[in-house]
Amino acid sequence: MDIHEYQSKEILSGLGVPVPRGGLAYSPEQAGYRARELGGDAWVVKAQIHSGGRGEAGGVKLCRSEDEVRTYAATLFGKQLVTRQTDANGKGVFRVWVEAATSIRQELYLGLVLDRKTERIMIVSSAHGGMEIEELAVEDPDSLRRMVIDPAVGLAEYQARELAFSLGLSGGQIAQMITVLRACYRAYRDLDALMVEINPLVITEAGDLIALDAKMSFDTNALYRRPEVAALRDPSQEDARESMAADNGLAYVGLDGDIGCITNGAGLAMATMDMVKLAGGEPANFLDIGGGASPERVCQAFRTVLSDTNVQVILINIFAGINRCDWIANGVIQAYRELNLGVPVIVRLAGTNVEEGRAILTGAGLPILAAETLEEAANAAVAARRQPVAA
Ligand code: GDP
Ligand code: MN
Repeated sequence: MDIHEYQSKEILSGLGVPVPRGGLAYSPEQAGYRARELGGDAWVVKAQIHSGGRGEAGGVKLCRSEDEVRTYAATLFGKQLVTRQTDANGKGVFRVWVEAATSIRQELYLGLVLDRKTERIMIVSSAHGGMEIEELAVEDPDSLRRMVIDPAVGLAEYQARELAFSLGLSGGQIAQMITVLRACYRAYRDLDALMVEINPLVITEAGDLIALDAKMSFDTNALYRRPEVAALRDPSQEDARESMAADNGLAYVGLDGDIGCITNGAGLAMATMDMVKLAGGEPANFLDIGGGASPERVCQAFRTVLSDTNVQVILINIFAGINRCDWIANGVIQAYRELNLGVPVIVRLAGTNVEEGRAILTGAGLPILAAETLEEAANAAVAARRQPVAA
């Protein structure tokens, strides 16, 4: 789960990272008030969307008057901002952050990520920040430093010093950098983050460190124990299909294909998507409806999958362990009738009472195909997708 820049800054600032003074606005007028409250004669107006690359996309602007702040904010609100990190639709701007402008001497890069190879938190840094890390890795690979943190020890003092020196910092900047690093590491570890990024971390004209941008994302599977993080969720920035599923407690990930998948268990869901690909099709989604596949849950799963208008056929693959196949078959039929489905449905059931389940499906007189194996089901789904939908 991603959060906004201003929320990340609030978290990091609370742990000791210096950030510019700023305020949030929900309208152009409010943006103007924020500028007045902050005082001074230069402000930066920043679109709050769950994406980087806003600067080059016109989502960040230095303004010299209250009026300019208001006028520029007015162009942002309600806009779908397209950056190189978003899709062609972009992300809607509904919140704008106004902050006191900073005079920049140098832009640094600092990022904490999960390194899957070492299974540890890795700190990535560079003295040439400002641009995207991917771009940096291509254009100036030697400037990138990677440092792995031993979880048993945590971020060691000598590592923080070494990193500060490697960035060419001196004097008071070294102590400031150590504070920033400690704060980022704590935020990462204590809040179950997957990424903490400050880009740019700036050396001001006065020689002090300050975080001009901040980005955090979190492990969705840990949100149950981080209610303070879960509260920062902004559905306006999420895939509509995924937020609908999350609201209903379904594990759903939207994809680009046209074969809707309804399965139980993450492993079975992955295997189903693999089989669809192997049969020459493209899955429209990952969906794990969980253990107790009640008729209500099956119905909700159908609704979620069908909210994607690309879906041409639905493939159901359920393994009934604690569940019973006859019960699931009844749920599928109930959902089919209630939702008045217009797409073919392929069902592969396995496990308890599988014969009864198949008999119920074939006896229903609906365009539901009961397949014996997953392979057969995947092939049938791909074939069904190429045919016009039965009247
Ligand atoms: P991003 O493009 O989404 O990563 O947004 P950033 O917050 O990183 O802003 C993009 C760029 O705008 C930064 O790299 C800076 O060069 C510039 N910028 C942001 N805030 C200020 C500021 O207070 N003063 C100046 N001079 N430039 C700023
Ligand atoms: Mn940035």
